[in-house]
Amino acid sequence: MNIVLLGAPGAGKGTQAQKLVDDVGIAHISTGDLLRAAVSAQSKLGMEAKGYMDAGRLVPDQLVINLVKERLQQDDAKKGFILDGFPRNTQQAVVLDSELESMGIKLDVALLVDVKPEVIINRLSLRRTCRDCGYTAAIGVDSCPRCSGEMYQRDDDRPETIARRLDTYQNQTAPLIEYYCGRKILKEVDGDRPVDEVYADVRSLLGL
Ligand code: AMP
Repeated sequence: MNIVLLGAPGAGKGTQAQKLVDDVGIAHISTGDLLRAAVSAQSKLGMEAKGYMDAGRLVPDQLVINLVKERLQQDDAKKGFILDGFPRNTQQAVVLDSELESMGIKLDVALLVDVKPEVIINRLSLRRTCRDCGYTAAIGVDSCPRCSGEMYQRDDDRPETIARRLDTYQNQTAPLIEYYCGRKILKEVDGDRPVDEVYADVRSLLGL
């Protein structure tokens, strides 16, 4: 199964993706995680991306598109994938369509995890992330329950950057809801509920 996850930052896409990966064994392709790894490694890509990420802006399309194309070629993605955080605008969606077509792969579902902006602001400012594996939890957890790594506040989860990320989402990413609705593959889940309730709906929407 090949899935695109849509939803504002902090909607819970990463958490739902992780549960699906554990359940169904498909590849989790998070462009945010890939970019943060590039920043930590201080690679050329990481150095170029960092300024945009810290400012809550999108990293230029070509950089992210190359990263995703490369990742889709890896073996684990052949069994299926969940794209989390990509595409983020129409240009990326169009390139993804043509890339998948040239690989002979079909996108099955675009799954929107829907959460109201006021809930998002609260969640993101309280969110802490594992430095090693990317696991997220609300403030108050010092070490990662999954790998014991250090939990920290991402620079872009600080209040001054959250507003810009939400603007970017509204202006550039939200139009993809219409895009995938037009392709007749959009499914929607209310993300403003406990994780396991959301996941139960995700499973039933995906026919699992
Ligand atoms: P995320 O972890 O998905 O919230 O992504 C963190 C940051 O990485 C975003 O605010 C962007 O700066 C950058 N980023 C992640 N995915 C993309 C993408 N598909 N296109 C452009 N920038 C991205």
